[in-house]
Amino acid sequence: MTTKEQREALRRLPAVHELLKREELIPWLERLPREWVTRAAGDAIAMGRREILENEAVRVRSAAELAARAVVSLRRLTEPRLRPVLNGTGVVLHTNLGRAVLSEAATEAVQRVARSASNLEFRLEEGVRGSRYDHVEDLLRRLTGAEAAMVVNNNAAAVFHVLQALARGKEVIVSRGQLVEIGGSFRVSEIMRESGGRLVEVGTTNKTRIRDYEQALTDETGMLMKVHTSNFRIIGFTEEASRHELATLARKRDIPFFEDLGSGVLYDLKAHGIGDEPTVRECLEEGADLLSFSGDKLLGGPQAGIIVGKKSWIDRLKKNQLTRSLRVDKFTLAALEATLHHYLNPEEAAREIPTLRQILKEEGELQSAAEQLAERIRGAAGEALGIETVPAHSEVGGGSMPGVELPTHCVAITPRQISLTQLERRLRQAPVPVVGRVSQDRLFLDPRTLEEDDFSQVSDSFRYALQI
Ligand SMILES: *Cc1c(COP(=O)(O)O)cnc(C)c1O
Repeated sequence: MTTKEQREALRRLPAVHELLKREELIPWLERLPREWVTRAAGDAIAMGRREILENEAVRVRSAAELAARAVVSLRRLTEPRLRPVLNGTGVVLHTNLGRAVLSEAATEAVQRVARSASNLEFRLEEGVRGSRYDHVEDLLRRLTGAEAAMVVNNNAAAVFHVLQALARGKEVIVSRGQLVEIGGSFRVSEIMRESGGRLVEVGTTNKTRIRDYEQALTDETGMLMKVHTSNFRIIGFTEEASRHELATLARKRDIPFFEDLGSGVLYDLKAHGIGDEPTVRECLEEGADLLSFSGDKLLGGPQAGIIVGKKSWIDRLKKNQLTRSLRVDKFTLAALEATLHHYLNPEEAAREIPTLRQILKEEGELQSAAEQLAERIRGAAGEALGIETVPAHSEVGGGSMPGVELPTHCVAITPRQISLTQLERRLRQAPVPVVGRVSQDRLFLDPRTLEEDDFSQVSDSFRYALQI
């Protein structure tokens, strides 16, 4: 039942045609077909109507308020939803924030092929049709020492492709300690089922020996598989079969030994005392026949799944029907090629690839960066925030190198006039959103994942959040 006041209030709401005459909406009528502006005005009025019907206290929105609301929804419709964010979390490969940030050269390479026609599938020397994979295969071979390489959409697709092309209808032996789930619903057991491979689990969660694989071999065995446990780590009383042992066993049966390496490093981070991940080259030297890894994890390139290994197996993968449906586009190939070029000179890779540069930042550098950032935010916020710098830890993220803590210095912020939740939310909603980490009743910003050029933007976003 509507009350008399409500009926009265509903009558006072403006009509769509009145809103459309307001000057706030005129530029929108010039920019968009009338239909979209009419709909935005209609929605704004409908919302006003609902407010009247649902609330006891009746307050009629003015035409100006409703027009402003329509403008907000038209802006939302026309502005990019996918946009840059400042990552202050200290998680270098933040899956929710787009994982690896591309190098300048990789970004330019993408723009170049986007703006123009390219030789994506055309051999310029001979003037005949070529393969899109040729552009990066040679580089991947040189950088990893593999006989052959191919690239698909992401590493999940790479694993699926290898299994369905080489092990469909056959048994695939995997250690129980490696039957993991990786963020975003990638489960080894389910990928196996989808691909048509039959999972044969061997060993126990903490210990699997080569004997366990040997005993599980049958005439139906089509593959030995090793999976990087990524974001999960078994410590203590553990044992696993070595790559060399698995490779030797696979060779005896003439079946492939495939390793899902997850991240896949081309730059030797362990030589800098960071983690203990073997490089892709080392894994191949230890005997893996086929390896797959992501393009946008530790490699620091675009989203992609890279498969390297023995030519005979890779040739079978390339010929498979599924290859077409997993193929990468020209932007990915352009970014990947430019990223791989950096690796020809490891010093250049460490300098130019943001993922590596951020992981390799040193504590002293981070301490002075944290102090500079703190100073900038103090300058913007005045007394509204309590600000200090504190030692802390950053993470590599992306399921790469679990348990590796990179020492850093953070700016720790305590809001004095609004709540921490409000500050955190308003920073997220700023025109250039800033995402930090909330811990111990403070907001932490880690300069490891910010560049110095970002600092003035960070302080602008603080001004926005504090409305000053
Ligand atoms: C990350 C990861 C995947 C999935 O790779 P995407 O490139 O994200 O598809 C698969 N396997 C392992 C072991 C991983 O760490």
